[in-house]
Amino acid sequence: MKSLIVANWKMNPLSQKAASQLFDSLKRGLKNVRKTEVVVCPPFVYLSGNRLTSFKLGAQDCFWQDKGAFTGEISPQMLKDLGVRYVILGHSERRQVMGEADEMVNKKIKEVLRLKLWPIVCVGETAQERKKGETFQVLKREIKEGFKNVPKSQMSKVVIAYEPIWAIGTGNPCLADDALTAVLFIRKVISQIFGMALAKKIRILYGGSANSQNAGDYLNQEGINGLLVGGASLKPKEFLKIARG
Ligand code: PEP
Repeated sequence: MKSLIVANWKMNPLSQKAASQLFDSLKRGLKNVRKTEVVVCPPFVYLSGNRLTSFKLGAQDCFWQDKGAFTGEISPQMLKDLGVRYVILGHSERRQVMGEADEMVNKKIKEVLRLKLWPIVCVGETAQERKKGETFQVLKREIKEGFKNVPKSQMSKVVIAYEPIWAIGTGNPCLADDALTAVLFIRKVISQIFGMALAKKIRILYGGSANSQNAGDYLNQEGINGLLVGGASLKPKEFLKIARG
């Protein structure tokens, strides 16, 4: 199975021109990359006009209904129309800054899957939860609530990203062994809900201060299927090194 490398640009860069330059370097640099599947998730405003390139397009969020009076929201149907395949859902910045609860993440997952898009669902504990020994409890709750009533038949499109919140944007990545332990636990919870076959197959990524120096530590672990990359995805040389696998 190819590793999946996802770039999360977050709320960057600040101009259309800078976004085009970033896209151009990636298009050039990823032309002959075969070892990995690359997904780029820019802010919504830069999604248009980037179909059929050497990477797939992803969005960083969407709403849980496909049309209507929801001022400021973006419909998954609109994303689909732009050629977007993946949608990051439940990122910790949305959970913590925007107050997104498990229930909202669940509604979004269901709508995205209904429209045959591929959700990348983020789960992970805070530093305090980890200190209190609650990591598994948090992961179990986020998965159980997030995937509540999701039909098993749709689960093959799902990607899960284990993103310990204390490791995101801090330069303090999770040790690869600890990331693997969390990923194996996530597979166990998935197997309890959806069965062993899916738990073996589902793609689970690691995210949190990943860079070109440490990427191999995660990608070499059997059971970790790729990376969700924030800060390092804004530096083309750095991201291309990671994406080349
Ligand atoms: C992220 O935003 O999902 C992320 C992992 O960020 P960073 O790589 O900057 O820690």
